[in-house]
Amino acid sequence: NSPNPNAKTREKIQVAVRIRPLSSREISQRETSAWDCVDSRTIVQRPAPTPPTPERSPHHHSQQSKSYTFDHVFGPESATEQVYEEGAKDIALSALCGVNATIFAYGQTSSGKTFTMRGVTQNTIRDIFNYIEKHSERNFVIKISAIEIYNEVVKDLLNTDTNIGPLRLMDDPEKGTIVERLVEDIVRDKNHFQQILSVIEAQRQVGETSLNETSSRSHQIIRLTIESFPRVADGGLVKSLVANLNLVDLAGSERASQTHSEGTRLKEGCHINRSLLTLTNIIRKLSGPSREKAAHLPYRDSKLTRILQNSLGGNARTAIICTMSPAQTHMEQSRNTLFFATQAK
Ligand code: ADP
Ligand code: MG
Repeated sequence: NSPNPNAKTREKIQVAVRIRPLSSREISQRETSAWDCVDSRTIVQRPAPTPPTPERSPHHHSQQSKSYTFDHVFGPESATEQVYEEGAKDIALSALCGVNATIFAYGQTSSGKTFTMRGVTQNTIRDIFNYIEKHSERNFVIKISAIEIYNEVVKDLLNTDTNIGPLRLMDDPEKGTIVERLVEDIVRDKNHFQQILSVIEAQRQVGETSLNETSSRSHQIIRLTIESFPRVADGGLVKSLVANLNLVDLAGSERASQTHSEGTRLKEGCHINRSLLTLTNIIRKLSGPSREKAAHLPYRDSKLTRILQNSLGGNARTAIICTMSPAQTHMEQSRNTLFFATQAK
């Protein structure tokens, strides 16, 4: 986007695409892969194996086969460790140095968002505690909170009290938008983090059983707040640093599909997810040719973007991992995902 490739690279949103392997069910259904990774940054659509139809010559696809280039492309054989190392680590760990950061997984339901974010979260926490061990000259405090946004209703995933009801958002002059009554735990060490994660996972399951479509419609945010200050004051001056790292597992991107005609969109209106739509609009504008200033963007239009406002755009760093199914039958949704990914970079 930028005429000078070195300019503003830190501000740019980093975009990766990850294609999961075919599942054993897909393989048993003779599903085939629709995509090839031609190098570590580029994927192309494979010619369809279906017999040619009159209006579709055998060369139709190879002539049209479009290639897509991103900061990183990970094929089915790529481990989550590699996705994390190349696609998220730098940005996630910048929160240790006082820079707000957000890692998103974006993609259709069953494309691998949750699988990827769980791995990214595990790797991140390992590296954060390794860093803290090596930097004994500073005191670190790691706080954690976790929420789910379903249908613009915010739920605390660390509060097991079922009577608490929906949480309201409030404006704090210093912290920006805060979630009222949100539980915040201090993470003592790696083991404690695993205990907290199991509470979060159990709370996610509560929603799953009462409404089996929850995970495709809801957003989950794990927020780590990393605070540090020097053990020995530097000439009487205590330079403390604080930043948020948001690990976000988004609702299925089919909920933001904008490719429908007007009629279809109207009919499917109730499926469109306000938070996802507002988020994708903001990301498009942050990355678009005019690089709109964060101050002019519609953060207040949804719960998700209000909560993430200070960690998205401005001086914050963002990584988006777009997950895709390899299957021919998911081609249309995969193309939608690539379209979003292209606009985000
Ligand atoms: P989503 O959260 O996007 O709906 P999931 O993360 O639940 O999708 O993934 C769907 C299924 O595919 C799960 O069973 C998951 O374990 C599996 N899966 C996803 N990505 C991978 C991967 N890279 N390697 C192996 N299995 C994967
Ligand atoms: Mg999921």
